[in-house]
Amino acid sequence: MLTRGEKILSGSAIMGEKHEPCKELCHWTKHQLEDHYQLLTQIVSAPAFICTKCGRAANQKKWLCKVKRLPTR
Ligand SMILES: [Zn+2]
Repeated sequence: MLTRGEKILSGSAIMGEKHEPCKELCHWTKHQLEDHYQLLTQIVSAPAFICTKCGRAANQKKWLCKVKRLPTR
């Protein structure tokens, strides 16, 4: 028998934050760009990589589809 008061959904708490897109910045929708504005600013504010397909820049490889490392200054 299940203990009374025990919630089945415990463990997967929703933090009130929207899910982080797990795909390249290059493929974010207009909606995602707006929804994850904060994340977006973090990604592009100190870029270390560039996408040679789209011209986008990011701080991590995973955000770009055709990654090339930016030359260090
Ligand atoms: Zn790209």
